Amino acid sequence: MIDNEWDFETLAIRTGHVRTNEGEHSEAIFPTSSFVFRSAAEAAARFGGSEPGNIYARFTNPTVRYFEDRLAALEGGEACVATSTGMSAILAVMLGLLKAGDHVVCSRAVFGTTTLLLQNIVGKFGVAFSFVDLTDMAGWEAALQPNTRLLFVETPANPLTEIVDIRELADLAHRNGSLLVVDNCFCTPALQRPLELGADIVVHSATKYLDGQGRALGGAVVGDKQRVGKEVYGVLRNGGVSMSPFNAWIFLKGLETLSLRMRAHCDNALQLAQWLEAHPAIERVHYPGLASHPQHALARRQQSGFGGIVSFIVNGGQDAAWQVIDATQMLSITANLGDTKTTITHPATTTHGRLTPEQKVQAGIADGLVRVSVGLESIRDIQRDLARGLVVA
Ligand SMILES: *Cc1c(COP(=O)(O)O)cnc(C)c1O
Repeated sequence: MIDNEWDFETLAIRTGHVRTNEGEHSEAIFPTSSFVFRSAAEAAARFGGSEPGNIYARFTNPTVRYFEDRLAALEGGEACVATSTGMSAILAVMLGLLKAGDHVVCSRAVFGTTTLLLQNIVGKFGVAFSFVDLTDMAGWEAALQPNTRLLFVETPANPLTEIVDIRELADLAHRNGSLLVVDNCFCTPALQRPLELGADIVVHSATKYLDGQGRALGGAVVGDKQRVGKEVYGVLRNGGVSMSPFNAWIFLKGLETLSLRMRAHCDNALQLAQWLEAHPAIERVHYPGLASHPQHALARRQQSGFGGIVSFIVNGGQDAAWQVIDATQMLSITANLGDTKTTITHPATTTHGRLTPEQKVQAGIADGLVRVSVGLESIRDIQRDLARGLVVA
């Protein structure tokens, strides 16, 4: 049941679930690969599409559908396709919507594996890619070609939290007959709804904030009935990038607390960013909630919160950055993000370690840069842990 009058918090808890005759209160998990038909005629009607219903769990599983319907409601989309990981969500969009001869313009500041997927894998099938700076609107315009089918962005981007105006980019895409795809991983629909701002498709790594507790891999694509409900769904049905019902159940539980958690992540992150900005051992802090962030005004307009990712440059380069990381006793040294547990990473030698020195300079990945995914521990404990290695020269 979807009640369009409901607010976000209610949709996150109440939509999607279709209770069975058993009367379960919490959503049921359906660990079954196939479904039984009452007759040969029913089987034929289901396969032929004239009768809705379950067929085979690669493309129809009730628990997965509960999650898809709930996330579609939260993003304001007509259709959602859940996938095994965030990467397979992006792959399904590319396979579903592109053909040989098409061109894609992608922001340089996207998840590293996304760049490799596009260039090394999708690129093998006759699709061409151009990469542009996320915030350079003239660069986007100049990169467009008559055969540009998709524009792809993350906003805010990792790890410097740069932000692009989704509405402006969507207008640019549409004037060229192209579609805008937004990876909404950092904000989640609790803080930003790209479809309402004109984007055509949203992709998610559910592995991050949608779960929020680092338990499961998953992804999703949200958009309209034709492109997502038919074309991307075709990749799921025939290509099998499916989400497991166990993981779908974890994400359903995650969505129920998404709004509360995102607000708490934002509160902790803002306090941490302000504290770091005032710290004499720090050269620069990147956080959309700070007035010093170049797109602070846009973030206020486009997002209903500034998110949980804070990055900062420590005076003293890589040695100083590693010292901060190694001195922590509570924070988890891991590249994952969007967890209740605060995580800390040195991008220049991990997530962005494959870039050449010139590419690092171009991407703003300084040797002293540290990225923190601010969790839900007490902000005083997070600060105390980071303070251990922050030595004033
Ligand atoms: C993690 C991540 C992905 C990939 O998701 P997986 O679930 O790890 O496959 C894609 N985009 C962004 C922004 C991410 O942070």
